[in-house]
Amino acid sequence: MALEDLYGSEEPEAPKLKRILSGMRPTGKMHLGNYYGALDNWKRLQEDFQCFYFVADWHALTTEYESPGPISGYIPEMVTDWLSVGLDPLKSTIFVQSAIREHAELYLVFGMFTPVPWLERNPTYKDQILELAHKDLATYGFLGYPVLQAADILMYKADGVPVGVDQVPHVEMTREIARRFNHLYRPIFPEPEVLLTEIPKLTGIDGRKMSKSYGNCIYLSDPPEVMAKKVRQMTTDTQRPYKKDPGEPDRCLAFPFHRLNLPQERLDEITADCRAAKLGCVDCKKMLAEALLKNLAPIQERRRYYEAHADEVLDIMHQGNDRARQQARQTMAEVRDAVGFNEKFQLVP
Ligand code: SF4
Repeated sequence: MALEDLYGSEEPEAPKLKRILSGMRPTGKMHLGNYYGALDNWKRLQEDFQCFYFVADWHALTTEYESPGPISGYIPEMVTDWLSVGLDPLKSTIFVQSAIREHAELYLVFGMFTPVPWLERNPTYKDQILELAHKDLATYGFLGYPVLQAADILMYKADGVPVGVDQVPHVEMTREIARRFNHLYRPIFPEPEVLLTEIPKLTGIDGRKMSKSYGNCIYLSDPPEVMAKKVRQMTTDTQRPYKKDPGEPDRCLAFPFHRLNLPQERLDEITADCRAAKLGCVDCKKMLAEALLKNLAPIQERRRYYEAHADEVLDIMHQGNDRARQQARQTMAEVRDAVGFNEKFQLVP
């Protein structure tokens, strides 16, 4: 389903989705890939939907279990960036997954009836095993990652989950788990819709996937001179050795950033000038740095505010945790009742 459809402008008969849930592993400072690939969309969604956005720290543990030390430090850093881009705690519930213990409980219940072959055929599982070959991921926790995701989503009875195309199988598995629970016990879970989000293809400054581990990211919080320097280092059209040679924006790794920062008219001009060898890459990237800095200036200003008010960030997380916990407790009471684990035997409130 395309995002425009959600707003009902083109298909008034499309069902109106109400609650959205999405999360991100704590990786510290957010980079442009995080911003254009998710956060910018999250910010738009909060205008029309009831949004739950969470820090997926238990998910981080599935791959970082040997050295989890940095995870907790990354959490406030990441949430500071979320707030800086404009996530509004009055509109969105921002919370930390591990603060809501009910996620672990629901994960356990779902784990009881999720068939292992469902998890083994998950394409992301196989890809990640290959990508992270230097880690020992032959673990129960890593195999069960999509079950934890299902618990995250269904805990809040989300109607929709904004994901890129590669995450669609996970939402599908969540729907299957919801169906299986509803069939086995009682129909309490809605089947969430995939809100297919177009994720722009952005690479790091060296042409590889933008990733902290490659050291090739442009961070939202980079000071102007650092950002300008990184833009200067960006790989452009490698088949254009000299300015006098015609270039091709479709081969250039800087051009997708232009697309996100300039109006179509300017893009057309740059494309024509690049192909006619009238525009050199140095000047072109200078324009890009200027446009980026201008567009990110309000974000950086808000970030300075939150850096100076770190307690406010923590308060926002605590309040979000309280709101999320309320919903989670309600869902778990229904789940226990449906499965037949009567609350009266529980000694802990
Ligand atoms: S002129 Fe601009 S679009 Fe063309 S190759 Fe150079 S940086 Fe890329």
